[in-house]
Amino acid sequence: MNFCSHCGSAVRFAIPDMDNRSRYLCDHCGTIHYQNPRLITGTLPVAPDGRILLCKRAIEPRLGYWTLPAGFMENGETTVEGALRETIEEACVTGQNPSLLSIISLPEFDQVHLFYRVDMPDFEYATTPESSAVELFEIEQIPWQEIAFRTVTATLEHYQTHLKRAAIPVLNSTVYRR
Ligand SMILES: [Zn+2]
Repeated sequence: MNFCSHCGSAVRFAIPDMDNRSRYLCDHCGTIHYQNPRLITGTLPVAPDGRILLCKRAIEPRLGYWTLPAGFMENGETTVEGALRETIEEACVTGQNPSLLSIISLPEFDQVHLFYRVDMPDFEYATTPESSAVELFEIEQIPWQEIAFRTVTATLEHYQTHLKRAAIPVLNSTVYRR
């Protein structure tokens, strides 16, 4: 950040009084521009026969790789609402019975990724501008080498490990830069 989004003056990067981290400070209007992690919320959709829905990314980053439907949470929505919205936008699927499956911090990327397991009401799904292909996969046939993001891999592995349990625990983990 070079200029204050409030008044347009130049900002400086320094530790404010009573704080312990550097922030972008505007000396002209006094605004402290706090920057905080962004939340990515998505789903692991399960078809009536137990197969898992994956989307092939039609957009960068990781174009052509498979992923779970997910995206940046919008202001004014809940994490569940965001996850279900992304699932409609990327796969034309209206997920049901959302249950939290994973919450993964990426402290070096300033993000938190959060996935819900959802039931698909039927076998209806479709490609979208964001997904060049949408397909159902048996858990044994997941293309592990072609998964777009490590948080998606971790969430799928967690689901596979606990699939046979009555209740799947929540994965709470951290992904760092390699
Ligand atoms: Zn300002």
